[in-house]
Amino acid sequence: NRYTKEDILRMAEEEDVEFVRLQFPDIFGVLKNMAITASQLEKALNDECSFDGVSINGYGELSKTDLFLRPDLNTFEIFPWRPQQGKVARLICNVYNADGTPYAADTRMVLKRVVEKAKKMGYVFKVEPECEFFLFHIDDGGMPTTVTHEHAGYFDVGPVDFAENVRRDIVLNLEEMGFEVKSSHHEKAPGQHEVDFKYSDVLNTADNLLTFKMTVKSIAKRHGLHATFMPKPKSDVDGSGMHINMSLWDEEGNDVFYDKDDAYKISETARCFMAGILRHIGAITALTNPLVNSYKRLTPGFEAPVYATWSAETTFALLRVPSVIGTHAKLELRSPDPTANPYLAFAACLAAGLQGIEEKLLLAPSVDTNVSAWTDEERRNLDIERLPKNMCDAINALEDDRFIVEVIGEAVAGQYIRAKRQEWNTYRRQVTEWEIKEYLNRY
Ligand code: GLN
Ligand code: MG
Ligand code: MG
Ligand code: MG
Repeated sequence: NRYTKEDILRMAEEEDVEFVRLQFPDIFGVLKNMAITASQLEKALNDECSFDGVSINGYGELSKTDLFLRPDLNTFEIFPWRPQQGKVARLICNVYNADGTPYAADTRMVLKRVVEKAKKMGYVFKVEPECEFFLFHIDDGGMPTTVTHEHAGYFDVGPVDFAENVRRDIVLNLEEMGFEVKSSHHEKAPGQHEVDFKYSDVLNTADNLLTFKMTVKSIAKRHGLHATFMPKPKSDVDGSGMHINMSLWDEEGNDVFYDKDDAYKISETARCFMAGILRHIGAITALTNPLVNSYKRLTPGFEAPVYATWSAETTFALLRVPSVIGTHAKLELRSPDPTANPYLAFAACLAAGLQGIEEKLLLAPSVDTNVSAWTDEERRNLDIERLPKNMCDAINALEDDRFIVEVIGEAVAGQYIRAKRQEWNTYRRQVTEWEIKEYLNRY
């Protein structure tokens, strides 16, 4: 463990910490928190801080009484963008019932369970995300818009790129919180950006993602902009993805996805892992792409995957084996978007991959072209599966996948599926501007 209780009390004292945010994800991965003052920190560290969970998304129906927060001591961090006198720190927490049992809707616990399972098999799972987002203007009423005055594209530089100072601030703040930021760049669409930080153990990466999104939004706001991780804010340009680069290690720190004798430098274990993910891809997609809007990104023509293929030769595949230098291998899943609850998404990917290893699943041959350009028949001939084409199909796939439902737990799955069905039903009866434009005059 990184810190003891005493370490945290001492650091809080030395660093003049005035507020501590006790943070946890709701069932959809949205960061929630309760602030306490430093005077209550000792109590919090003894797991004695409670809250009423009824109004937390996905929590309410599962508990009628107070819930307790158990801070993960490893997650103590000070927010560099908050006042430097009377500082603000945070601790990410797991959620418990009053009787000390884990709370059923705590998705951080879902991931911890799968991490335990991997550990029993002798594995450590590491994930490196590539998170994309848009920076948009705020209108006179203070509301976010989808307006950007920028015309910059992929890897452009200032002055065409208007946001170099925003990214700079984001990166510096992340580094101050201990992130190792690998790189940042302007993405393809005007107003779109990407900031990549280094892989870590999967639980740590999931925690980091919550911190990352909060940081990006806070810093953007300081620059008078609205940062959004919405997957497809504009119809005609690329959406924002969150590719995840996965690697699996044994306890001695050897990369078990690597095989120096293989043509693509990946091991049989890596192939089985991919086969496991492909077997459960429908249900996984319900978790990696949770919104109605997510499926508007997963369409041909915008560098987002549509078909469930793997390849080491083309970037169009759903699962890609990226080139790496050195004795190391990773698998990149390109479907996820940044609105996924990272704890659920990573738990599902890891569990499916481990099942592939356990059952020595056979991986289908790679497909090294962009199959979106093929006809339906050509795809059928090669048994190429499509990703769910909308949220409703994805949720049905999740409901039908007993294995993934058990991985995330009946309670979480039930809440998730119910909420998503409601979301879908609300969406279904919306009359959109597109329909008015297309039909009002013509019929
Ligand atoms: N924005 C693309 C997506 O939706 C990814 C583009 C890229 O990073 N090359 O996944
Ligand atoms: Mg990238
Ligand atoms: Mg990118
Ligand atoms: Mg990528």
